Amino acid sequence: MQKSTAELLEQAGRSILFTAIRPDIVMEKGQGMYLWDTDGKKYLDFIGGWAVNCLGHCPDVIADALSKQSSLLVNASPSFYNRQMIEFAKLLTDISCFDRVFFTSTGAEANEGAVKLARKYGSGSLGGAWEIITTINSFHGRTLAMMSATGKKHWEDLFKPKLPGFVHVPFNDIDAAEAAVNENTCAIMIEPVQGEGGVNLADEKYIEGLRRLCDEKGILLIFDEVQTGIGRTGEMFAYQHYGIEPDIMTLAKGIGGGFPLSAMLAKERLNIFDPGDQGGTYTGQPLAMAVGMAVVREVLERDLPGRAAIMGEYIIERLKGMSEKYPLRNIRGKGLLTAFDLPDPIGEKIVSACLDEGLIINSPRPSAIRLMPPLIVMKQHVDEMIDILSRVLDRIYPGDRQS
Ligand SMILES: *Cc1c(COP(=O)(O)O)cnc(C)c1O
Repeated sequence: MQKSTAELLEQAGRSILFTAIRPDIVMEKGQGMYLWDTDGKKYLDFIGGWAVNCLGHCPDVIADALSKQSSLLVNASPSFYNRQMIEFAKLLTDISCFDRVFFTSTGAEANEGAVKLARKYGSGSLGGAWEIITTINSFHGRTLAMMSATGKKHWEDLFKPKLPGFVHVPFNDIDAAEAAVNENTCAIMIEPVQGEGGVNLADEKYIEGLRRLCDEKGILLIFDEVQTGIGRTGEMFAYQHYGIEPDIMTLAKGIGGGFPLSAMLAKERLNIFDPGDQGGTYTGQPLAMAVGMAVVREVLERDLPGRAAIMGEYIIERLKGMSEKYPLRNIRGKGLLTAFDLPDPIGEKIVSACLDEGLIINSPRPSAIRLMPPLIVMKQHVDEMIDILSRVLDRIYPGDRQS
């Protein structure tokens, strides 16, 4: 007999290490834009596995890639090349401005690799410089080093001692970045759109300024595109909006479409690791490579970055329409990474009311709502999302309160 939902939740309460407050729901099935829980309730998914399931839930290309590859080669060890790893690296370098790829499994690991590479460069080419400038409200992952790199106020006192070597400056402030650079600096690392920080878009001038600053000082520009990469913002990679090229870029989330996979990409002159400097049991893991290649090919073939741009505009247009009736503020976004603010810190309340109504959205900050649906989202899904959100806001802001 399968356990009932109540039994599963009771078991979760006893055997899952507590790390997060989760709703009393157990997810069981996914297809396209929808998820189903163990009671058969259906949810429209506007977080897309946390900006991960770019092709929606359970796309055929992932099932096919997994079944083919798992009967051919699951793991040969990181000490050998494998066919998928070589072909996937070639594909990624063909479609980006980068020449070299290192594969890992999570965003935090890819960023760790970027930091190690920048420090290696600093030790060899910048007289031992090892400090990296990051931004306030940034998010780079949950390893100890990435918690140090991340500019989250709430994390400052957690798990001390922090890893030294990260300097946090305000986002979109080129003067602050310039003032922070000194002889110890080896790199500047930023998200072109701060995702977890609440969907904050970098100004064009800021990105251009950072590139110029890095060139002048001979230091590296690292783009953390873990959330923005693979079509999310309306270009395959967010750096392509700005007419500049970073020296290092990290990818995760969308690149595996739900399979744990990440990559660190670098320019040829940064092919400087010595044997043993960097590695990992699962680097270039054939199943991950096969899935990643299938996902990226599908994103390219269906021009999902182009669709993300169009659907992102439609979401913004519909939200703007809603703002005539409800107090939505700062409606913003790039492609399918969109958000708005509310005048009150009721983000979690709205998220939970929407969940009851069968819609999954996210509140990255107490008064902000973020929408990051799969790149396959269609107008009908946006309309369905807006209907549910309007119903919920009707209850919270009755009588057209426009405060
Ligand atoms: C999610 C995220 C990470 C961390 O990725 P994990 O796979 O959870 O380690 C890092 N940087 C950005 C910008 C992210 O959005």
